[in-house]
Amino acid sequence: MLHLTGETLHVHFLGTAGALPTPQRNLPCIMVRRGADTLLFDCGEGAQQQMMRARTGFTVNAVFITHWHADHFLGTFGLAQTLSFMGRTEPLALYGPPGVHEFAGMVAELCRNTLRFPVKSVEMRDGSVAEFGGYTVRAFATLHGIQSLGYVLSEDPRPGRFDRERAVSLGVKPGPLFGRLQRGEPVGVPRDGGEVMVRPEEVMGPPRPGRRICYTGDTRPVEDRIGEIAGGADLLIHDATFDDRDRDRAEEVHHSTAGEAGAAAAALGVRTLALVHISPRYTSTAGHVEDAKRHFSGEVIAPSDLSMLEIPFRD
Ligand SMILES: [Zn+2]
Ligand SMILES: [Zn+2]
Repeated sequence: MLHLTGETLHVHFLGTAGALPTPQRNLPCIMVRRGADTLLFDCGEGAQQQMMRARTGFTVNAVFITHWHADHFLGTFGLAQTLSFMGRTEPLALYGPPGVHEFAGMVAELCRNTLRFPVKSVEMRDGSVAEFGGYTVRAFATLHGIQSLGYVLSEDPRPGRFDRERAVSLGVKPGPLFGRLQRGEPVGVPRDGGEVMVRPEEVMGPPRPGRRICYTGDTRPVEDRIGEIAGGADLLIHDATFDDRDRDRAEEVHHSTAGEAGAAAAALGVRTLALVHISPRYTSTAGHVEDAKRHFSGEVIAPSDLSMLEIPFRD
């Protein structure tokens, strides 16, 4: 399906620590806001308070959990509690690897005295696709020593550019007929005492790709498996628990180093790399960024908590 309007696409880094929170960093939680939709990717402890600090509001439509390590899901309980106190009645959808139905049951059970909305659960596996209005979220298997997933949010393609001059030269009057052509409908125009049809493909360029965000969750490098769904992404949010000096440790505990994240970004040909899940052992991420840049010439960031990134269209 083609979409006419360019929805805004914002990424709020609500939690960028790994395993343990620090005074500066909260546990994993990435909010992606596209138009009126809000998705959370992982929901670490204290996520709802980070939403207050970042002033994002609480209109969460769905939560995607990458795996069942507690640093990635404990915040769901507090979030559900807060949403209920704020009067939410719409269902909250929880997506995650096998175990998500039991998890949703636990959230409902633990908050049972206050919860005023239903908690729904959707099990995701390698290759599962969740469809939303104008975009999809696709799951891919990652390498983390337990069953774990990463997610790719892909927008549907946008229509090609509308060639206004060409339309006018074909006899289409500016106004509502332009809109119909842009929506893919042929329109009739008077010519030589009769009517001829102008087809959309005569006045529209080829469809343009939508934007794409890939979030790996916790994992060893997996770029060789995800080229098809994550290649050319606008933003790759990659596990960078360690810097390259702790490479052995990264392998041992099924995480990635910043250098490995950089190599993944280069292999996938992404535009921007965000390093997250920073181990509390580091007080600075300067080394992480340096390590990633050795492999990747695109933009590298180690976002601080509460920072926001806007993803523009490429053209
Ligand atoms: Zn983790
Ligand atoms: Zn983990």
